[in-house]
Amino acid sequence: MYAPPVTTVDHYKPDLRDTFFQLFEVLEIQKTSLGKGPFESMDEDSARASLEGFLEVMQTTWAPAFADGDRIGATFDGKGNVTLPPSYRKAFEAFHGGGWNKLELPESLGGYGAPPTVQWSAFELMAGANPSICFYMLGTMMTKIIDRFGTESQKKRYVQNMLEKHWGATMVLTEPGAGSDVGAGTTKATHVAGDEYHLEGVKRFITNGDFDLTSNIVHMVLARPEGAGPGTKGLSLFIVPKFWVETDGTLGARNGCVVTKVEHKMGIKGSATCELTLGDGAPCRALLVGEVHEGIAQMFHVIEYARMGVGTKSMATLATAYHNALEYTRVRKQGADLAKQTDKTAPRVEVINHPDVKRMLMQQKAFSEGLRAVILWTASVQDQVFLAGGHGSPEARQLDALNDLMLPLIKGYASEKVYELLGTASLQCFGGSGYCEDYPIEQYIRDQKIDSLYEGTTHIQALDLFFRKIGRDKGQTLTALMQQVGKTVETLPAELGAEKAALAAALGDVQGIVGAMLGKLGQSIYHVGFQGNRILFALAELVIGWRLAASAQVAQQKVASAQGEDAAFYRGKLAASKWYAKNVLPGLSLTRKLIENGDLDLMDVTDDQW
Ligand SMILES: Cc1cc2nc3c(=O)[nH]c(=O)nc-3n(C[C@H](O)[C@H](O)[C@H](O)COP(=O)(O)OP(=O)(O)OC[C@H]3O[C@@H](n4cnc5c(N)ncnc54)[C@H](O)[C@@H]3O)c2cc1C
Repeated sequence: MYAPPVTTVDHYKPDLRDTFFQLFEVLEIQKTSLGKGPFESMDEDSARASLEGFLEVMQTTWAPAFADGDRIGATFDGKGNVTLPPSYRKAFEAFHGGGWNKLELPESLGGYGAPPTVQWSAFELMAGANPSICFYMLGTMMTKIIDRFGTESQKKRYVQNMLEKHWGATMVLTEPGAGSDVGAGTTKATHVAGDEYHLEGVKRFITNGDFDLTSNIVHMVLARPEGAGPGTKGLSLFIVPKFWVETDGTLGARNGCVVTKVEHKMGIKGSATCELTLGDGAPCRALLVGEVHEGIAQMFHVIEYARMGVGTKSMATLATAYHNALEYTRVRKQGADLAKQTDKTAPRVEVINHPDVKRMLMQQKAFSEGLRAVILWTASVQDQVFLAGGHGSPEARQLDALNDLMLPLIKGYASEKVYELLGTASLQCFGGSGYCEDYPIEQYIRDQKIDSLYEGTTHIQALDLFFRKIGRDKGQTLTALMQQVGKTVETLPAELGAEKAALAAALGDVQGIVGAMLGKLGQSIYHVGFQGNRILFALAELVIGWRLAASAQVAQQKVASAQGEDAAFYRGKLAASKWYAKNVLPGLSLTRKLIENGDLDLMDVTDDQW
């Protein structure tokens, strides 16, 4: 018997119950963030209502456009103009018409004053419902950048325009010769007068470089002023509008920044990935952000947001894939119970009853919920950064460093692990049906693959983790994080004995891994090159195990008095954390051995041996 086909229009299967569990039962943001400082006007009721209302918009307008983005895609006319499917317009208008961009804005810019914990919860719903549309909303984030770093005149010209007219925005770093090596960029900036420059160069792979849903697009471009030094330090950040914005805020002429190509990609086809040619034919007019040459430092605020966004996008995809797989395996009947397999008359069972399918479902559940727990915990650190005066304030320094340490883990690990699980567990649960377009999984896989590539490939995250986030402060922030894990281990009750033992052992393994690598560094830096990804994965797996155990601790306290669906929910949390402790954390011992025994033999493999 076949299961009823699921149309991809209603593909999105969220899990707001688990989000609320993390926000209000584990992290208790109603006590730590809501109603305080910049989040004064949001309380638990309004946070819950906002996310519920937002989810409805995602399910009624964003999810139905999911397949259109893939099948129709972004179309390019060869003259610089990109057209999106009609359902994308509906989704874009529903987002802005409902004022949902205000969820991401501080009250000072007319927003609702939602803390990052609520904002990233909302982002999961966007990325899960339609990952290709998400970054068309980048205008809101860029408004905050201009508001923070721009001159008074730049703010006057852009901030309200961008918010009220829902202008798009892009982040423009990559060039044909400058991918991972952003500092190799050659786009030239020639000073004209005041804060105005003319740019010349070609940028590549620019997400949403053009689209037909808005009257203007603000490109935030890294370019090298004449005479500036090499590398990233010589780059400055420029505001480059599609249509020039006059000093009174009105729109002027079409600017000389034109989309000259749109890529044909494996996935996220509804997101236009553009080649952007600057200053060919007409001058490309640009404003230096804030009249200071601190391009890479300014752009890093966008990059950090994007890295958290990409990790959240991956987690959101695994979460909806898991719930789709759950729905399918509960209905699809095939084969008899393994224990009765020789009895030809034994009843056929739903595939969810087969041990191997249970294993695949638990992999998806534990990792998607574990990643959500890590992402929202990190978002709660971001809440505290704001409450301590914001990024860069001396009171927020340690929290800022902790957040910085978590970002490569979230981006690097979620993107790799989710791709693996989408193929080996989510699609596998569907059998051959998963390979077909009737179900969303094949598109999930194609749309998600990009996550380990853009915003810095996985190894770039690993190098960032080891050298900048661990090495630069001599391991202080990592030690502080490990101490937090250690504290949880101490407080875990006897009922969570499996978690306690596994987490304690994994903590020792991660400390051993870092120690071993510091020792090997004296011999050769290539050791970090070979083992960097493993270190990142090991640390991420420890942190996921930690947050799952902390969640289990809360579930343990509540399960006895819970009823019905709630009781089942808490038992599910306990099952996931125990499974993870027994099946994933012990793997860190092997990782440790591999790293301790790591050598440099591969460096001796010469070109002719491949
Ligand atoms: C769909 C899509 C959307 C994108 N959107 C944007 C955007 O909006 N704005 C933007 O600016 N860019 C964007 N990019 C570009 C993206 O960030 C780059 O593709 C990415 O940073 C990798 O650069 P690259 O493709 O040149 O790969 P390369 O840098 O050529 O990397 C190739 C391989 O070499 C490895 N490698 C490279 N350098 C090192 C090193 N030093 N040490 C060890 N290994 C290394 C990499 O890890 C990778 O495995 C987008 C790309 C795509 C595909």
